Amino acid sequence: MKKITTLLLFSLGTYAFQAQSFIQAYQNRANLVTQSNITTLLQEFGNLGVKTTGSTANTNALNWLKAKYQSYGYTASQIVEDPFTFGSSTSSKNLIITKTGTVYPNTYVIICGHYDTITGPGVSDNGSGTSIILEAARILKDIPTEYSIKFIHFSGEEQGLQGSAHYVNSVVFQNSVRQLNIKLVFNLDQVGGKIGNSNVAINCESDQSGQTGNNAASLSVTQQLAACTTLYSPLQTVMSNAYSSDYMPFEAKGDIITGFYETVRSYNEHTVNDTFANVDPTYVFNVGKAAVGALQHFATASTSLLATDEKAVNHLESVKVYPNPTKDFLNIELPKDVKNFSLEISDMNGRLILNKENETKVNVSGLTNGTYIATIKTKDQKAVRKVIIGK
Ligand SMILES: [Zn+2]
Repeated sequence: MKKITTLLLFSLGTYAFQAQSFIQAYQNRANLVTQSNITTLLQEFGNLGVKTTGSTANTNALNWLKAKYQSYGYTASQIVEDPFTFGSSTSSKNLIITKTGTVYPNTYVIICGHYDTITGPGVSDNGSGTSIILEAARILKDIPTEYSIKFIHFSGEEQGLQGSAHYVNSVVFQNSVRQLNIKLVFNLDQVGGKIGNSNVAINCESDQSGQTGNNAASLSVTQQLAACTTLYSPLQTVMSNAYSSDYMPFEAKGDIITGFYETVRSYNEHTVNDTFANVDPTYVFNVGKAAVGALQHFATASTSLLATDEKAVNHLESVKVYPNPTKDFLNIELPKDVKNFSLEISDMNGRLILNKENETKVNVSGLTNGTYIATIKTKDQKAVRKVIIGK
């Protein structure tokens, strides 16, 4: 949401950092975030339309989310809907997925972001955070964590944090009595950037307002978030302040919050321009790696290299498709041992526009300007990339 435009920015050097060491297993799992998954999730989120709280598209997005968690292997008892109503009659649902911790099952690390949008399809605000939470849940499903994790998709954010306020006041607290111990709340909101901008850094947001008793702890976990970002992703970090998103109702109850927000702001939020065409999927991919690294740190994931980590990362993911944007030709640079492959280019309606076999320099001069999906396939692997034709 983010209606306030003033940001208090602090240089990283202002703070004393606690040393945080690199853990290979955390890096391996951060590397399981794939560009193909992120690109596909962003495209699907965009195709769901304008997901205004209470609308059919909003419900369709909820069902899309539930189907994703089911496909990752989460059981019905782990996937809980949290319905709420506000105003005269607007109803929607938050979606909460719980993974139980091994040592502290009753203490929760919350990773959250809203899936409702306003005016536009909201592919950055907040399809970006939504896609990253999905990837984190997919990757960590069978990884032991000492703390329990709740993956939460809030609705009603754009109407004034309605879903998160409901969750805090009716689930976390009941009759003003705390029901859930929360270690920290890690919120992702609008981390999509804008294609063409230099998206090389991410804002790490700490609590500098509201309750004062939780500010120092928020700063500490936000410093840890920044350290994890540097360790597990190629992104730089900018220390910033938390405001106007789903962590704020938690903050008001004294919880410890932190968050990610794009550093170079797109200003496409809450407009018809917040589309798949305008988002930067590479940036979301990089933020995703940082988030998966940090979430493992916060929840104290197993540091052992488990069999699940060692399964081969899709080899084809290293494919390079360039230049992008392009006018006439698209070069396909494959991993060395790949000989036989196909390239399919589809438009945003899913229509197949072009299909080539084993061509590494493809003539795309016949395509009209716009955004396309390129799918590179081998016998058993597939990679997906967003391609822009601009003349
Ligand atoms: Zn938002």
